[in-house]
Amino acid sequence: MTETLLDRALLRLEEAARHLTIDQDVIEKLKYPRETTKVRLMIRMDDGARKSFLAWRCRYDDTRGPTKGGIRFHPDSNEAEVETLAFWMTFKCAVMNLPYGGGKGAVQVDPRKLSRTELERLSRAYVQAFARVIGPDRDIPAPDVYTNSMIMGWMADEYNQIVGEVVPAVITGKPIALGGSLGRNDATARGGYYLVRHLAGELALPVSMDIVIQGFGNAGQFFASLAAADGHRIVAASDSSGAIRSSDGLDADVMIAAKKKGRTLVSLAAELGAEVIAPDELVATSCDLLVPAALEDMIHEENAAGVRARVVLELANGPVKPAADVVLEGKGVVVLPDILANAGGVTVSYLEWVQNRQGYYWEVEEIHARLLKIIEREGRAVWDLSKHRQISMRSAAYVHALERLATAIEAHGTQP
Ligand code: GLU
Repeated sequence: MTETLLDRALLRLEEAARHLTIDQDVIEKLKYPRETTKVRLMIRMDDGARKSFLAWRCRYDDTRGPTKGGIRFHPDSNEAEVETLAFWMTFKCAVMNLPYGGGKGAVQVDPRKLSRTELERLSRAYVQAFARVIGPDRDIPAPDVYTNSMIMGWMADEYNQIVGEVVPAVITGKPIALGGSLGRNDATARGGYYLVRHLAGELALPVSMDIVIQGFGNAGQFFASLAAADGHRIVAASDSSGAIRSSDGLDADVMIAAKKKGRTLVSLAAELGAEVIAPDELVATSCDLLVPAALEDMIHEENAAGVRARVVLELANGPVKPAADVVLEGKGVVVLPDILANAGGVTVSYLEWVQNRQGYYWEVEEIHARLLKIIEREGRAVWDLSKHRQISMRSAAYVHALERLATAIEAHGTQP
């Protein structure tokens, strides 16, 4: 049988369990998703034709609270991926000590091929199909790959219409005008940046870093801008069009402005004085910090040996395959794992949900301060655990999360 993404993700659970004395019951509970709903969404295209799209919502585990996690719109989305992403959310929320379990959703679609009105109909159809699955105390979606605040706004509006009242806490990552939080848009990148800054001394990172960013979407762009503002250099970057490199540094503002206008990085190479390189050359570019910010499995058995970074910051979910982890560890490259490194997004989602429930909204400084405090607290705990037990940061993050999950599972008592 071929190994699925979920099988590989579960290896991390088994590995963490080896470092703890926990009941086999806990593993049995965390080995399988609790519920995955699959539907076929049917919408009208602008030309009047009917078109269908497969969609899922997985609630992986709700022991620590309502399930939480984004909705991805991607042509390659599938059930195993959704379940794996929901598994990662379970551990991510536990690492950060957010009162949530883990969930995830997806629609198998290339949203770049839909018009705005088609995209809106699809987003609303998703909520119509899953209205009984989601809820502010049950399962709380948010943005993920190729979804954004505009889509969350349509979804929240559809939910409100179905239940006949305004329930802002059902979805996070909403537009500010509909109860979104300040500071949610750059939260994933900011959380990762705060983590690196906090551990820079321990990781022996220089004051001015050379950074490579793989994937120039929401997380990658905001990370570039935060890093550039502090004087770090982006020496290479890639998007779905390809990769570019310049040892003098790429201008983050120019790249971001061009992406907003729909330009690709490769089309900017000449203007930026950069060379176009192959994706694997990007991974092999010498740097202090390599930031995979795209999709799963980007660093694998074949290209891991070429990595020439001190530290890898996983802004994407699952960008380093377990087999590549072993190679990187052997080379002394420290990987700051996704469930910690990109948890800034869900942390500010939590702050949004809290604000929605209290009906009182914080200034952006308050959001940044709360995010910083949580990232530093949990980042430090994971770092100390990794030193204390002589294990990788990934294993330490899983051990840290698993301890909390095990405590909660045991506290629930003997009922399955
Ligand atoms: N999609 C993001 C993630 O993978 C955010 C999830 C959320 O805010 O609920 O962490």
